[in-house]
Amino acid sequence: MNFYRLLGVAYNATPDEIKKAYRKKVKIFHPDVNPDGEEVFKLLNVAYETLINPDKREQYDKLLNKNSLLKVFEDKLLEFLGFTDKPQKGSDIRTTVTVSLEDGLLGRKKTIKYKRKVLCPDCEGNGIVKESRLIKCDKCSGEGRIQTKLGKIVCFKCLGKGFVVKNPCGKCGGLGYTKEDQYISFKVPIGVETGDKLTVKSMGNCGLNGGEYGNLIIRFILDTGIFEKTSDGLILNVKLEKDISEYEYIRIKNPLNEVLQIKIPPNATKNQLIKISQEGYINKSGERTNLYIRFI
Ligand SMILES: [Zn+2]
Ligand SMILES: [Zn+2]
Repeated sequence: MNFYRLLGVAYNATPDEIKKAYRKKVKIFHPDVNPDGEEVFKLLNVAYETLINPDKREQYDKLLNKNSLLKVFEDKLLEFLGFTDKPQKGSDIRTTVTVSLEDGLLGRKKTIKYKRKVLCPDCEGNGIVKESRLIKCDKCSGEGRIQTKLGKIVCFKCLGKGFVVKNPCGKCGGLGYTKEDQYISFKVPIGVETGDKLTVKSMGNCGLNGGEYGNLIIRFILDTGIFEKTSDGLILNVKLEKDISEYEYIRIKNPLNEVLQIKIPPNATKNQLIKISQEGYINKSGERTNLYIRFI
């Protein structure tokens, strides 16, 4: 049994966090309150004594990460079978968010909803709850290893623990995690472009066996709406209704939806660009670009 997982603490948990987690768990499994909890109680004590002692913890960590050929083979086998007792970092979650020019100009706050795996709140990731009991693994008769032609290897039924959990956590079915809706708010980076990414640390899927959370990676798509975006500005197409023979004013809206009154010179022709300084988007240097009117 992975002791980190048993106590429901992260791989890099501090002694204080270990102490707190231990105290909470022993209350549940103390034989005085839970007659079936004795085996879990004993195991919790071993886990606690190991992790709270710096020397023992170092040795245990080494064992957990041991790189012998047999261990590598065992880990591969367990991984192949879909089990592992090693701390595993949670996977990253990638999502796409479409934003408007206005969002990118103002650095607006956005909230999105997505699904992610989180540590099960009932068992805190180890699959064991008050009602659980540990029973001797019948595959390896409690030894944790089974004989094969290649020699003794880790038992794939109990993952080397020698016992299996009876009545595992009902909320997660013993998996240690559940899939939950997650909401997150963030500010759209000013001047964001299509393809830009925002990484939100630890907001991805939870890790297993005390491993850390993965990240959430947001990829932006900039929807430019009625504007055409070029490298140095925005273009707004305006229909030329009639020939313009003298100076005329027209009203348009910039990407912030603000009304601008623009003076049009006489004899304006189709495809002619009229520049309106600093009413466009924001470039990589943080400057506001120009807006151009193009007559069509
Ligand atoms: Zn659970
Ligand atoms: Zn076994």
